[in-house]
Amino acid sequence: MQTAQRIIVNYQRKRFLVSAIVALVTLSLTLGIRFISQRSLNQERIHEAATQAVSTLDKILLPLEDGREEIIRLVGLPCDEAQPLIRKKTAVLQTVRSIALVKSGILYCSSIFGTRDTPVNQLQPALPASEARLLLSTDQSLLKGSPIMLQWYPVSADGEDGVMESINIELLSSLILSPRAPLISALSLTLGDRHYIEGLGVVDRLPEDPDHPFYRLASAHFPFTINVSTPGATALALRDLPSQLPLALILSSLLAWIAWLATAGRMSFTWEINLGIAAREFEVFCQPILNTRNNECTGVEILLRWNNPRQGWISPDVFIPIAEDHNLIIPLTRYVIAETVRNLAVFPAEFHIGINVAASHLRRGILLKDLNHYWFSAHPSQQLVVELTERAALDDVDYRLVRELHHKGVKLAIDDFGTGNSSLSWLEKLRPDVLKIDKSFTGAIGTDAVNSTVTDIIIALGQRLRIELVAEGVETEQQATYLRQNNVLLLQGYLYARPMPLAELPKWLAERSSPPAQHDRHPNPIMPLR
Ligand code: C2E
Ligand code: CA
Ligand code: CA
Repeated sequence: MQTAQRIIVNYQRKRFLVSAIVALVTLSLTLGIRFISQRSLNQERIHEAATQAVSTLDKILLPLEDGREEIIRLVGLPCDEAQPLIRKKTAVLQTVRSIALVKSGILYCSSIFGTRDTPVNQLQPALPASEARLLLSTDQSLLKGSPIMLQWYPVSADGEDGVMESINIELLSSLILSPRAPLISALSLTLGDRHYIEGLGVVDRLPEDPDHPFYRLASAHFPFTINVSTPGATALALRDLPSQLPLALILSSLLAWIAWLATAGRMSFTWEINLGIAAREFEVFCQPILNTRNNECTGVEILLRWNNPRQGWISPDVFIPIAEDHNLIIPLTRYVIAETVRNLAVFPAEFHIGINVAASHLRRGILLKDLNHYWFSAHPSQQLVVELTERAALDDVDYRLVRELHHKGVKLAIDDFGTGNSSLSWLEKLRPDVLKIDKSFTGAIGTDAVNSTVTDIIIALGQRLRIELVAEGVETEQQATYLRQNNVLLLQGYLYARPMPLAELPKWLAERSSPPAQHDRHPNPIMPLR
């Protein structure tokens, strides 16, 4: 059973490995998918924040643009006439702090101060200009030094006449540039080569932070750009990942569990046996049984061999008990019967053919149905012997079926007699034709082990009940002599022949019958010895 356990442990290991791989793949896939979707969500949100800031500022600047014609017309009017009009305009455009009219480079009228006479470039060095301009600057008149946004509209072709509107950027910044942690750490506004940062005011250089690169979005209507300072969609998605771990772990454990259950059938030794039957990997061997009275071979025992292409030779002592435990012994026995019938030609007429049958096969008439289907339908001249092993409990054997088998001429042998959970009452119930003395008792002959006494008792029992005795596992001449002297005449063992493929039996039989008859004591092993 050592080997059976090793094989089963191997299958368990494989299942465990498959489940672990499933868990790992699920875990990395779940986390990977969560990471990718979170990253694109972050990207979307960053873009959205920038778009919102751009469109808010666009919305503030557009009314100025729309009302500009009205104000432009005022340039050149005397300040007394123009001031009430531009003051009213300032009040309507809430974001505008002041409007000033410029003629020949001189700011001559202000919505706040009325008539003035100041060269405009003294206040704002970038003005006057021949093209419309939007620029960041600092207030030089009312709230000196406070950051402002200036909108310049030229009126004359040389740019010396025009309108200057001051926009209170500080008031607007909380509306436009409020960051949303943790996605966005800061928002800033760039106009030309100057930048406005809330709290810092107008600066010439944007402070660069390698951990918080800028995402920039320009307005389609005005020459400004909004800069979004963010840890980045990737870094944020990575930071989020640990919070996804519990769900990913639950999912991967669930799938690993499903994989463990799903592989129970496929990655098991029983599945391998099923596959072996379907792929006809099993081979039927036979081992001669000799009648020592006339030294003639009177029959064989059919024994299964499995040369598994994935595992090599597997001993019947390994796969038969597993097949018995997992309801596979019946299909396996059907296979043996069918193969034996297919090769009936290799056996002489009247030959005894022993087939090992598990007790479970004798329930509910199953064996009889199978024999009708495979054996009796072939009308063989050979004698069938059903060797009943004691491994499984014989309690629920269908005794009617046993009687029916006897009636049909099938002989019943009790295998491995004296071992396992045998009970003398079965001899009464089953009325076997043959008792097979287990090789452990044959091996005890000539020794002073307790088993050697049991051998004598089994022999005496068989002879008293007139049940034919077959000794298996005969390996030495001494054992053979002892058995012969005690009237056990049917012997099976390596002393005469090892189990061989069915196709080799005719040659073996022919060699035995051709004089001088010699035992082949040292044949080449056909499969590795157990
Ligand atoms: P078993 O029915 O008692 O079969 C006899 C076993 O003893 C065979 O082992 C055979 O190779 C081995 N043997 C024969 N002569 C000698 C000998 O001189 N010395 C020793 N040490 N061993 C000898 P095998 O073929 O490995 O089968 C082991 C067991 O597996 C069988 O024991 C039988 O119970 C089971 N088995 C084999 N084939 C079948 C089958 O077709 N159906 C069922 N149900 N069981 C099978
Ligand atoms: Ca047997
Ligand atoms: Ca046996």
